[in-house]
Amino acid sequence: MHALNLKTMVTDDIKTNLEEIRNRITAAAERSGRDPKEITLIAVSKTKPNEAILEAINAGQLHFGENRMQELQSKMDEIDHSGAQWHMIGTMQSNKIKYIAHRVNWIHSVGKAKYLKEIDKRANQNNHHVNVLIQVNISDEDQKSGCEITDLEAILSKAKDYSNITVKGLMGMARFVDDPEEVRDEFKLLKSAFDAHQHLNGGNIDLTELSMGMSNDFEVAIEEGSTMVRIGSAIFGARN
Ligand SMILES: *Cc1c(COP(=O)(O)O)cnc(C)c1O
Repeated sequence: MHALNLKTMVTDDIKTNLEEIRNRITAAAERSGRDPKEITLIAVSKTKPNEAILEAINAGQLHFGENRMQELQSKMDEIDHSGAQWHMIGTMQSNKIKYIAHRVNWIHSVGKAKYLKEIDKRANQNNHHVNVLIQVNISDEDQKSGCEITDLEAILSKAKDYSNITVKGLMGMARFVDDPEEVRDEFKLLKSAFDAHQHLNGGNIDLTELSMGMSNDFEVAIEEGSTMVRIGSAIFGARN
């Protein structure tokens, strides 16, 4: 596979870009013998204005990802669309969880058990339920957050204490490379950790989702088992 050049692919039209991405998701699923319906496209709207999100909603997109908790909070408040599903995908800070845990639908970036406790507490105060993914460090780069695979069992057993969350799966970020083939092994690693922890399912542990793949590498991630792709620049254009 050739390295993809985003700049030549992304148009100014969000609807066109979404169609293109959906077609590529379908093709990647089909060539790996998977049902495209298993894969959720999360449009990563961080730094982009509400108008861009509304344009995507008008094109049938309902899942949105943000990486900063305050930005996510204001977008959830301002857009206030009943069908929209909001995903927190960025670095957690305990003291900011209160801004989002009462209404966010998914949090992908939980790398430590202490965040589970805070999410559960804030969700409980508002009779809300949050789907959580545990972020795993698959790239061996220090600046990437996430727990080690060897921490997963302990984090998952802690999660059983918290009734306002369900742990739905794992999330990982591969290294940034030009050729996505170079990170195939990182996706394989996350998939094997996902498979290896299925025996812990039960109660509020329900490991069905694997969040991996971004604009530059989502097709390889789908071939390796991703069920949630987080795509920003290939939909909304480059960020400043
Ligand atoms: C920004 C971001 C994405 C999307 O990145 P693109 O390369 O623009 O598709 C996906 N996941 C996380 C965690 C991000 O912060």
